[in-house]
Amino acid sequence: MGVKLRIPENHPRAKSLKERMLIIECEKKGIVAKAGLIAHGRGEAFDYIIGENTIPPALFATKAAAAAMLLAKRPVISVNGNAAALVPKELVMLSKELNAPLEVNLFFRTKRREEAIKKHLLAHGAELILGVGRDASAIIPELFSERRRVDPRGIYSADVVLVPLEDGDRTYALKKMGKFVIAIDLNPLSRTAQTADITIVDNIVRAIPNMLRFIEELKGASLEDLESIVSRFDNKKNLSETIIYIRDRLTKLSREGN
Ligand code: ATP
Ligand code: MG
Repeated sequence: MGVKLRIPENHPRAKSLKERMLIIECEKKGIVAKAGLIAHGRGEAFDYIIGENTIPPALFATKAAAAAMLLAKRPVISVNGNAAALVPKELVMLSKELNAPLEVNLFFRTKRREEAIKKHLLAHGAELILGVGRDASAIIPELFSERRRVDPRGIYSADVVLVPLEDGDRTYALKKMGKFVIAIDLNPLSRTAQTADITIVDNIVRAIPNMLRFIEELKGASLEDLESIVSRFDNKKNLSETIIYIRDRLTKLSREGN
């Protein structure tokens, strides 16, 4: 039996510690891979640097992402262990709002892990989970990790793919297949961040709820309005604004320290 740590509500790092505990508990349940623990730590470091809040360029990217998902003919939400551990309920809500299936897609694919993620998402209200077992029968060309196996009804035939916490190689492969890729990644320098069409540099625990709010706001918008939101969005420019935001924040902090 694992020891459950109780985190006091007034602890200054309560939120971050709770996320960490969720990831650890889900690793024990076989949902998160060991490497996922390390990936989470990398995310935490970038979250600390941006101030553990949604910064303006991230909010702008989230709005563009919501518009792109609403415009999509076959949107799909790719789910890995960390995403399922941190925001299972919100991913299910997003999937239902957009009529976009959830597809399990893992870098370290094992039968046990894909089944554990499926079970976890079903327990949080999902009705259908793609990409598990034999369902992942299609292959993304030129990709050699287990992430190349996808569901013909899902990622393989999707036009827009939301990839939270993705690996760079696969983002690149999805782009080469002609997909419109939306990434959620706290590291603005990662290959994923640099390759996606829309990169949301934010913690997934804030990005998905924000996306749900934008979807609610944009649901009644005209096609022209949605198209104009997406076409005005420039990922390179937005990423450079993110890096400038980080630079300015660190400069300010360095002065306060003197
Ligand atoms: P790439 O392959 O794109 O160059 P990488 O190899 O540095 O990236 P991976 O381990 O492939 O990183 O993917 C994990 C990514 O997920 C990291 O960039 C990390 O910052 C990000 N990440 C981890 N936790 C979160 C989170 N909670 N929200 C958003 N992003 C996160
Ligand atoms: Mg990687």
